[in-house]
Amino acid sequence: MDGINKSMYDIASDSAFSILARTNELKSKGNEVINLCIGQPDFPTPKNIVEAACKALKDGHHGYTSSSGILGLREAVANDLFRRNNVIVEPGQILISPGAKAIIFYTLLMFGQPGAEVITPDPGFMAYKSLIDYTGAKAVFLPHRKEQNFSFNVDELLSLITSKTKLIILNSPGNPTGGVVPEKEFDKLANELSKYPNIYILSDEIYSKITFDNSKHKSLLAYPQIQEQVIMMDGWSKSYAMTGWRLGYGVYPKKLFPFAEKLAINCHSCVNTATQIAGIEALESKSSEVFVKHMVEKFQERKNFMVSELNKIKNVECCDPKGAFYVFPKINKKNFDSKLICSELLEKKFLATVPGSSFGDLGEGFLRISYASDLENLKKSIVLLKEYMNE
Ligand code: PLP
Repeated sequence: MDGINKSMYDIASDSAFSILARTNELKSKGNEVINLCIGQPDFPTPKNIVEAACKALKDGHHGYTSSSGILGLREAVANDLFRRNNVIVEPGQILISPGAKAIIFYTLLMFGQPGAEVITPDPGFMAYKSLIDYTGAKAVFLPHRKEQNFSFNVDELLSLITSKTKLIILNSPGNPTGGVVPEKEFDKLANELSKYPNIYILSDEIYSKITFDNSKHKSLLAYPQIQEQVIMMDGWSKSYAMTGWRLGYGVYPKKLFPFAEKLAINCHSCVNTATQIAGIEALESKSSEVFVKHMVEKFQERKNFMVSELNKIKNVECCDPKGAFYVFPKINKKNFDSKLICSELLEKKFLATVPGSSFGDLGEGFLRISYASDLENLKKSIVLLKEYMNE
């Protein structure tokens, strides 16, 4: 198209959202569709959080706030990080954003440019590659293999570093696999990356509160030797069932923060004020802590069910993920790629999943199944998948 910046063509779309659109279309025609394609908790936002937002609006909190976010919320984030990771960050390093996704974009706007290289997970969250491509930087893929429970090998990561590497993106617990990087691997990574002080790390920790089987999340911010290199992002979407509220944050090294703040001022001005006030309630109230615990227990139960049932299906192999709310089974069906399997499951069996290949080349052959749905639906999904695999 004449006049349009050609980088626009490098931005990809999220296949989960297009599959969701088709799912809704099929539903509107009267079909019962089991929707396991979308990455959002099936729980409602806890009442006390909703009430905090309503009260904030009634109390007249309707104006702009500081672009970095209200101080009370940034303090609540700093306290939460201290409680969970024993990490001290100053509120002045925290940028409140309209969803964590904005932090990915702002960070790539800081580091991505033609000639730069950005190391990113494969398979990985699709926005990483899409936005790296948009900036003109080169995406260099760090394999996360099934054989390593969808974690990575530090030596392999080090072998990908060149003089052009500006940023490394990591995501644990990970989307689309639910893989968690073992602490031992992070220890080694932190020691090695401290030898490259000019390379920054974007640590996407959006699933940090959703871990299983006693696998506790450790933030990359908890390593003093790389603290000046780490940009950590997290948010409320997944942990507090607040995907539609649009509330996330990034913690930046002090020297980078002014750049992040300028991007916020120019792009989103500030996050909806009532939402920010509700975000304080989420982090500080006992009842939301109880909610998170309950939700994670439910996810754990469903995860155990899915892993065990998927592994009983012929030609399906599934790892046992330690976090997030996805399973990423390998589906072996002769002459079928993951896109075709996903499309047939949706069109013939009314089961919505996402093809592994939409998360990177190494995702080929896999399906992403979100188990953020009730056990009844998950049981039906297993029956449908079994039927499909036997056809
Ligand atoms: N990072 C990962 C790995 C995700 O899976 C998602 C959402 O699906 C996000 C970031 C974005 O989260 P938010 O809703 O806070 O923008």
